[in-house]
Amino acid sequence: MVLSILATASLRMESPCRRALSRPFEGANAGVAGLALMTSGLLLRNADVWAPEPLGTNDVLILGGVIAGIGSFDAPAGWPIEVIDLAGAILAPGLIDAHTHLTGGGGESGPETKVPAVPFSAFTTAGVTTAIGLLGTDCRTRGMAELLAGARALERLGLTALCYTGGYEVPPVTLTGSARGDIVHVDRIVGIGETAISDHRSSQPTYDEIVRLASDAHVGGLLTGKAGVLHLHLGDGERGLAYVRRALAETEVPARVFHPTHLNRNARLWSEALHLSPRGLTLDLTAFPPDPGEPDAAECIAEYLAGGNDPERLTMSSDGGGCLPVFDRDGVMTHMDVGASASLLQAVGRARANGVSFMGALATVTSNVARLFRLHDRGQIAPGSRADVVVLESDLRVRTTIANGRVLVRDGVAVVKGPFER
Ligand code: ZN
Repeated sequence: MVLSILATASLRMESPCRRALSRPFEGANAGVAGLALMTSGLLLRNADVWAPEPLGTNDVLILGGVIAGIGSFDAPAGWPIEVIDLAGAILAPGLIDAHTHLTGGGGESGPETKVPAVPFSAFTTAGVTTAIGLLGTDCRTRGMAELLAGARALERLGLTALCYTGGYEVPPVTLTGSARGDIVHVDRIVGIGETAISDHRSSQPTYDEIVRLASDAHVGGLLTGKAGVLHLHLGDGERGLAYVRRALAETEVPARVFHPTHLNRNARLWSEALHLSPRGLTLDLTAFPPDPGEPDAAECIAEYLAGGNDPERLTMSSDGGGCLPVFDRDGVMTHMDVGASASLLQAVGRARANGVSFMGALATVTSNVARLFRLHDRGQIAPGSRADVVVLESDLRVRTTIANGRVLVRDGVAVVKGPFER
């Protein structure tokens, strides 16, 4: 059977398909490993593949949770490989949402305004296959143990789920007693955040405290191979990115460590971020549609790329599950909305409508995020990558979501749900 699929496969790209198919049959346990491969095959035919760069119409072969080949394939008769004809639909990498309050955020107008945990299907129906969770304003009635358990729950249901240590507060709430220790000792913790600066809800951290956290993130990343980023929540405060600008000028911490977010919350902050961009840090936009007068993430992507900035150093996240409050001058919340991962593809669509290439917009939620977070086998459609895939209609509605080779959404319907979802 193995030889038959190799014989009928006509690859247009260099592919590890032969290795992926032949290695499990070598050695004493060959039969068991081979069976595992054969029970998890998918052949996605006639896809318009965006890797995120355009690859044209291809078939994508998935074996054992990995993209085994991109090209033109015939499914051998009798093999337990499901064949799905996509008839020209868009096939893109599964999205990586690097800012989601997966246990729920909010609580900024009393405990009754705490947002419930995000349902599993809210990720998958938005095309998200990797979620990076965090705490926000409330690090007192919420905590790292709950966040870590939430990430593990998503992982058990089929996603890849990671998290930051900390939340708005400095010093950050942690599991092991230090942020650096959390990154080093806790499997899913990959960075520090969302640490709040220039915001009335922050703990008013000093410049030195922020530099120390950046150091902890960087060295924690070095010791583990994890992302090692300091994900900074930016508020509306006049100080804006002053701490970051100073740290880039005065310290040895690499620019890649600083990952400021909500940069499109007002025009002044976005302009400041654009000026800092050439220093080498990655800017993060929040996808949620803006209030009148605020910059739309889609317009910011267009402006960033048109300005000749590094196309690999721009990311977009959702603030999913987070409360999106509006405060009056006394710091009292006047109204709120709730973020959702679904805003990511909506913003990609608005960017495309604004003249941004689909590849450029898609990269902000796939390959650019994977690169910053050192997820080397995700965020791309390539032989050997994890089979995290989303199939989209021409208007970017999600048709199918596949994570680690497993179909979680089929024909727009979540076929895997959390135990308490209806
Ligand atoms: Zn935030």
